[in-house]
Amino acid sequence: MGKVTLDSDKCIGCGTCAALCPANYEMSGAKAKVKNEKDTGCAKQGADNCPVNAIKMK
Ligand code: SF4
Repeated sequence: MGKVTLDSDKCIGCGTCAALCPANYEMSGAKAKVKNEKDTGCAKQGADNCPVNAIKMK
């Protein structure tokens, strides 16, 4: 666990991941993007709360 990926095709731009874990995710227009691929400690929190399961960790 530790590498974060985000499927921007799935993302609906709710902002939850960036709000919960700004060290790993940021908003870019209407989509979120991964700011840091390496888990900073809260990446899973963002992934678990994504309503469309766009975030994967491996
Ligand atoms: S929580 Fe999911 S749907 Fe919401 S902005 Fe992040 S990646 Fe997109």
